[in-house]
Amino acid sequence: MINVKRVSEVFAYHGALGERIPTTPPNERERMRCARAVFYFLPVQALRRNSVDVLVKPLIRARLESLGLSVNDQVTSVFKGIADQYFQTSRFGRELARYCPRKLGVPDLKAGNMNLLRRLREEQNHRCAYCGILFVNCTESLDHVIPWRLIGDPPDGSNYQLLCSECNSAKGDLLSCYQAQSIHNWMYSIVDSVDGSRVLRMEEFRHIKYVRLALSSKCQVHGCTATSRNSILSVTRIDKEGVWCFKNTTVKCADHINGDEVLVYNSDRVQSA
Ligand SMILES: [Zn+2]
Ligand SMILES: [Zn+2]
Repeated sequence: MINVKRVSEVFAYHGALGERIPTTPPNERERMRCARAVFYFLPVQALRRNSVDVLVKPLIRARLESLGLSVNDQVTSVFKGIADQYFQTSRFGRELARYCPRKLGVPDLKAGNMNLLRRLREEQNHRCAYCGILFVNCTESLDHVIPWRLIGDPPDGSNYQLLCSECNSAKGDLLSCYQAQSIHNWMYSIVDSVDGSRVLRMEEFRHIKYVRLALSSKCQVHGCTATSRNSILSVTRIDKEGVWCFKNTTVKCADHINGDEVLVYNSDRVQSA
């Protein structure tokens, strides 16, 4: 059984209460478990309300107590924040809610919070958090680590990371890279081409590259410490005679890629580095 206090901590870490509440940072696996657990813990009346004046906190407290869980004020506040954001941004809620938030992007930060954008860029060394491409060489985009529908735009940027637009679109609306199930269907996605090169459908390519980068956030060559903060990370095969199934992929930095074939987002083919 997942710990309800830890779920609220992970969301508070990403700014569910408006600013980051420090705790042990969650890894990808824990983030996915927490994001799923929220929908088990929240009472349906908190998500689909027939009036804007429904008192949500007592509903949440009653639901958690009915599950035999002890709750404190931080837990109920976090869950209320998630329920409010979800309600205000649902098709149903937009008509009733007094306040309808709008998802922010890089242009909004440029116009209204340039200091935050500068800080995010510096924290990431001016590179995409997944693939390490320098922002001067790509279109930078604002990724909401926990989906916007659940947390929104905490003003201190606790829920933000900067990604190249291609990594961001490969991530899409997934709660977590562990949900990209299509990568496991690889055997139907390999298509023979006329010239004999291996060709995969673009969707699988995008997912394989994104998931591999999200799970292995550094160069996998033994002893190498390169990350997306100081190098471009590429996805290549472990065994060059093997096919491009997910399990046969690994991550290498610019110093170790040595001309190997790599996955690229904007193509349906592998390319040489
Ligand atoms: Zn990227
Ligand atoms: Zn390396």
